[in-house]
Amino acid sequence: MKTKNERLLRRVIGLLSFVWFLLAFPAEAKKLKVVTTLSDFASLAQTIGRDRVDADSIAKGYQDPHFVEPKPSFVLKLHDADVLIVAGLELEIGYLPPLLDQARNEKIRPTGLGYLDASVGCDILDKPAGQVTRAMGDVHPYGNPHYWLDPSNGRVIARAIAAKLTALDPAGAADYARNLADFEAKLKAAEIRWAARLAPFKNTKIVTYHSSWPNFAKAFSLDVVGFLEPKPGIPPSPQHKLEIINLMREQKVPLILMEVYFDKKDPDFVASKTGATVVVIPPSVGGEPAAKDYLSLFDVDVEKIVSALEKSALEKRK
Ligand SMILES: [Zn+2]
Repeated sequence: MKTKNERLLRRVIGLLSFVWFLLAFPAEAKKLKVVTTLSDFASLAQTIGRDRVDADSIAKGYQDPHFVEPKPSFVLKLHDADVLIVAGLELEIGYLPPLLDQARNEKIRPTGLGYLDASVGCDILDKPAGQVTRAMGDVHPYGNPHYWLDPSNGRVIARAIAAKLTALDPAGAADYARNLADFEAKLKAAEIRWAARLAPFKNTKIVTYHSSWPNFAKAFSLDVVGFLEPKPGIPPSPQHKLEIINLMREQKVPLILMEVYFDKKDPDFVASKTGATVVVIPPSVGGEPAAKDYLSLFDVDVEKIVSALEKSALEKRK
């Protein structure tokens, strides 16, 4: 017959092994679900959050970020999200508000704790001086929304993301701080590398298809003198193409920068009349396979521009 003590001992052993089991196999920590409109923000969020977050973007890097086709799967993503990161400045006005209505997730509405407008604190260019208007199809009514294409703004956005993740997941504070410091060190080294590559081409005049590149041009001392679009969001008209051809001839513009999602027909036509080179480059992470994260996006863009300018300088010398 077992004594009371024996039974007690068995219970204690049972309890201890249960505690040991809990310590040895802790339930996997729940990851923060981060949904972003742009792939660039998803890349930064994954870089800062690492294994504490799952970051996913609505727009892909090879899509025009102004005109994203809403899909039912986006509603599900937004419904489950803990964090939503947007570009703001009405970049997402065409598709995001109805998706947010259907997602029914108060956390990630503009008033919610999980909402982050990445433009706050960034250097925003082309801000309107007078009354804001979307007349004539201008899709940049509150200033240029392609501000992530300046690495200094990338630093501001990364810091804002680290602060947001820390607020929502205080247990990860040390991880987020360490990952942010690691990113900032890599960014600083990369900025020196990019500046050195572009240094011989300081103040080179360029024309771009859409006005996606004013922040990029400012960061790397390029001079954008015109656009193939007469206004942001308006396709090139025959009259406007003639004006651009004249302007490029007068100012000897060697380069037309074109985003990956436009038709190359018009840039090729203008190039054929002016002797300029068309460079197709991704404005976002995933715009082409080599642009796999925020830093490699700039590696790809800088190299494509530098090699086109080197080639054009060589041809001029012939
Ligand atoms: Zn735009």
